[in-house]
Amino acid sequence: MKLEIRLLDKTFSPYLSEDEIMDRIEIIANDLEQDYSDKDVVFLSVLNGAFMFTSDLMKSLDINLQISFVKLSSYQGTESSGVVRELIGLNKNIKDKHVVILEDIVDTGNTIDKFMELLKPHGAQSIEVCTLLFKPTAFEGQKAPKYVGFEIPNKFVVGYGLDYDEAGRNIKELYQLKE
Ligand code: 5GP
Ligand code: MG
Repeated sequence: MKLEIRLLDKTFSPYLSEDEIMDRIEIIANDLEQDYSDKDVVFLSVLNGAFMFTSDLMKSLDINLQISFVKLSSYQGTESSGVVRELIGLNKNIKDKHVVILEDIVDTGNTIDKFMELLKPHGAQSIEVCTLLFKPTAFEGQKAPKYVGFEIPNKFVVGYGLDYDEAGRNIKELYQLKE
């Protein structure tokens, strides 16, 4: 890893190495194999941030599975109701299936709560959340992630799919904002 990196106007320090991330992903993959090898499972990877985690996790999973890539749109509605958020990309029937949402990071938990609400009418048999990173001190959501890579402090991180203003997604390790 580099001693520090510069993205736009900010400086970041090394946080988690590629090896640390990969070792942890192997363990999560084992847990998921135990829980889902005999189940009809659909993974829903939340774009954009989860793309790198999803790729590495999927390669470590030796079970039959399906995967879709989904996204929460946010746009200004034409009515006075304000911001409407829609689920984009759910091209699979998840009725009676076991769903695992894949996230890069769960912070306040608002995004996951919104997903749970939007997925509800689709009739999945179960829904769990698997996230690489979790900030427990920031969390105020309804649905806590069942599979967690790393619990981290409430500080901004970047790399391994996570961006700072769209910069840094391609970095293969995680860096933390230097204060
Ligand atoms: P939530 O607060 O709804 O759980 O998380 C919302 C989103 O905030 C995450 O999906 C992620 O895009 C972004 N986010 C939260 N914490 C961080 C962080 O430390 N670094 C980056 N790059 N994004 C974050
Ligand atoms: Mg995200």
